[in-house]
Amino acid sequence: MKKVTITGVRQATIVEVPTPHAVGDWALVKVHAIPMCTEYKAFAGGWQSQHLGHEAAGEVVEVAQPGRVKVGDRVVAMPFYPCGKCPRCVAGDFIYCQHGYNYEAYAGTPEGQATYNEYLLKPGWILPRIPDGVSYELGSLAVCGLGPTFGAMDRMGVDAFDTLMITGMGPVGLGGVVNARFRGTRVIAVESIPYRVQKALDLGAEVVIDPRDPQALEQVMELTGGVGVDASLDCSGTVAAERFCIDATRRRGQVAFVGECHDDLAIKISPDMIRKGLTLHGSWHYNLSLFPKIMQVIQESPVVEQLISHTFPFSQVQQALELCATNQTAKVILKPKV
Ligand SMILES: [Zn+2]
Ligand SMILES: [Zn+2]
Repeated sequence: MKKVTITGVRQATIVEVPTPHAVGDWALVKVHAIPMCTEYKAFAGGWQSQHLGHEAAGEVVEVAQPGRVKVGDRVVAMPFYPCGKCPRCVAGDFIYCQHGYNYEAYAGTPEGQATYNEYLLKPGWILPRIPDGVSYELGSLAVCGLGPTFGAMDRMGVDAFDTLMITGMGPVGLGGVVNARFRGTRVIAVESIPYRVQKALDLGAEVVIDPRDPQALEQVMELTGGVGVDASLDCSGTVAAERFCIDATRRRGQVAFVGECHDDLAIKISPDMIRKGLTLHGSWHYNLSLFPKIMQVIQESPVVEQLISHTFPFSQVQQALELCATNQTAKVILKPKV
């Protein structure tokens, strides 16, 4: 099978490797749609990478034993190789599993563990089915496109009575606008890149605030009767935005952190937490039980198709990664067979 590797700075190469086979309760999936996520960082940095990508939708083409999926099923591949047995996995919060498989030891090959591939291997229980009539491209938004923000909104319980601020209108933040508008929630977005500002407005954000504006916090207060938003959601992964979420959220409000960040955020316990009564959530991906609801967003949202801004065949992966690195995109989908 063909797969994409990073072989140098801004250098993506398609190589031929052995196709893996179904083993135990792991099924072989022929990949049809690969939403591109953070791989452009490895591409731009020249980090040599043999296994790229963690998002995909495709068709089950081989099983080793009867199980949760069968040949012909159209499925979404969830990230990682969780154990399926620990309390977190059994509860559907497999993303927090601490006992994940050693891929190569179980599969007998290092190939098929990533998604920039023609085929991948996955435990059947984390291959939920795509409903009839939903394309692979739209179905694949049930990974990072719509998933992390859906999980965070479920945790916070935001609804049509709430104003939600979302910082960072990359593909994940834009998916957050789609999810929030589907719930009837009013959205204040925060973003500075013009392409993404316009996309946020197109998807239903009421207003987009420029985080570089010294009056940004005052603008949020003006839009919320002087009290701040009911909830906020950071999708930018920057300390400045995380701080802005805490400052712009009302007393007894909630903040969810979705954007990955490895820098230190300073929190003052008395003014930020105790006297404000704030609740902070760390939220990664979503509980598997929410999958049908995410599929309902995909089937019924009038704007969800606009979340996909570009589609490229495998042969143009170099151009696709170059484009992702410009930040002038919403979700970009790579297709192995075009
Ligand atoms: Zn587990
Ligand atoms: Zn992702």
